[in-house]
Amino acid sequence: SMERSVQTRIFKIIVIGDSNVGKTCLTFRFTGGSFPDKTEATIGVDFREKAVEIEGEKIKVQVWDTAGQERFRKSMVEHYYRNVHAVVFVYDVTKMASFENLKTWIQECNGHHVSPSVPRVLVGNKCDLVSQIQVPSNTALKFADAHNMLLFETSAKDPKETQNVESIFMCLACRLK
Ligand code: GDP
Ligand code: MG
Repeated sequence: SMERSVQTRIFKIIVIGDSNVGKTCLTFRFTGGSFPDKTEATIGVDFREKAVEIEGEKIKVQVWDTAGQERFRKSMVEHYYRNVHAVVFVYDVTKMASFENLKTWIQECNGHHVSPSVPRVLVGNKCDLVSQIQVPSNTALKFADAHNMLLFETSAKDPKETQNVESIFMCLACRLK
């Protein structure tokens, strides 16, 4: 008989950016739905999974989260970038330096043989801190355009943004099809 394979496909998304921009909180918001009361600096590599359904197929989205500025050993970095399906670059809208450092993160990503065909998005996080914004939307938009990325501005903290955060990851996962 023609049994269909029930092997669940895994979609690996990596989250990259400076320390403290909210990578862990965004990952939690997507995989667990909540904003953690307290996060500890991620040590090495951590990943969280979420089962989703896309066009009737159940797939597993695996979000890899990492420590920002702490540099890994070479073997660890290679493991992180291996077989990636999509990349999420994160900066903090209240910290210009975290936006400027994106160049370095993009270089690191390209240096690890992540194919240009792998979809990438740019996420400006902490939009709830309205009075502290340092990175204007149009500046971010120009940068995103220049690097062929979609821009999302959001807040991992604001529960009203939950759907928006989910759509960032789902928009990437849909491209697996
Ligand atoms: P990571 O180092 O990039 O993983 O950053 P974390 O997710 O650990 O978050 C760093 C700090 O920023 C923590 O104190 C979070 O509570 C805070 N944070 C994360 N996302 C937001 C957000 O959207 N808004 C605000 N106001 N704070 C946030
Ligand atoms: Mg973290």
